[in-house]
Amino acid sequence: MKRRRIASDVNTTIFAHKKFVVSNSYNSKTTPTRDTVQHIIKNNGGTVQKDITKNTDYFVQSFLIDDDDRLEIAKVNNVLVIGPDFLDYCIKQGNIADHVNYALNSDTNDNVDLTPLLQKFPSIEEYTREAEEQPQTYYDFLNMERYSPDDDRRTIYVLPLLCNTKRDSTVPCSFIETYFGLKVTILPTIKLQKTIQVGDYLYTIDTKKSKYNVMQLLDVLEENLPSDGFCIMSITDADIYEPGNNGIIMGRATGDRVCVVSMFHFLKQDKWLIPFLKTMTHELLHVFGIDHCAYFSCVMNACVSDGSDNEPVFMCPIDLAKLRKSIGFDAKERYQKLLAFFTENEMEEEIKFLSKIKFT
Ligand SMILES: [Zn+2]
Ligand SMILES: [Zn+2]
Repeated sequence: MKRRRIASDVNTTIFAHKKFVVSNSYNSKTTPTRDTVQHIIKNNGGTVQKDITKNTDYFVQSFLIDDDDRLEIAKVNNVLVIGPDFLDYCIKQGNIADHVNYALNSDTNDNVDLTPLLQKFPSIEEYTREAEEQPQTYYDFLNMERYSPDDDRRTIYVLPLLCNTKRDSTVPCSFIETYFGLKVTILPTIKLQKTIQVGDYLYTIDTKKSKYNVMQLLDVLEENLPSDGFCIMSITDADIYEPGNNGIIMGRATGDRVCVVSMFHFLKQDKWLIPFLKTMTHELLHVFGIDHCAYFSCVMNACVSDGSDNEPVFMCPIDLAKLRKSIGFDAKERYQKLLAFFTENEMEEEIKFLSKIKFT
């Protein structure tokens, strides 16, 4: 459950000439209520419209899932979708804030400024944006319930569940170690078949047309997270499915510190490693509580797992701030280590990208 500030109800003209449409999904359980939001807008000089028109500036969304179909209309009309806390931020700043700046800078106690990076990141491709999700700001991340590595649990465990047990997981794991700055321990490979032994237990995994039920694999991982593990990720070369979902699945993460990534569809490609690294990274970032990104072209874009090669392996500054908060690394030093990895593995696109967003 995300918690939000209640916007201050002061009388200003900050929102003068700005037109807002407020989502219908507000209800008595959410704070502030729809009425409060409308009141705050009007009280600070803004106009509240009933329907989205070409001149609407903002669609103020509700909490979590929003079932107001005007959200889709907002997206079509390029109307910025914001949360109620954006209003509060503008009022505190005394002006209409840039929504991306806001998404990054809602924590005033953070002393490392990632703002200069904002200009260097490519904007989001429209097709990767998910209409039903409210963009997760840095502030949202700080205030949500999530796990972070602590002194006792700082290791990422990787469990290879492989059909071809000779497959080597070393390169993907060394990438993860560099990317997250946490120790990665690869557990002994287990041959993936209908019945697998993990720890002291035997598990039977459902299969459908030789695809493995990913939800059951996640359950197995949850039961086998070592006590010093921050999380456990399984890498598999088998195809996976999620009951009730007929789409192709490359990976799946849960908030319970587990994820599964499948290299099955990537292995059909010549250059499978880089797209696979992106999917691994994407799923692991979900484990830290980072949602899909709606701000930039970023590894956390919703469609990153379709196996195409266009998405960057990098996090945008907003998601970088979230991961840094969770783990506590030096962003500049981390980029240098990533550059060394890319150089060693001849990842030209990534080297080029890093040189563009050069960290100052
Ligand atoms: Zn995702
Ligand atoms: Zn992002």
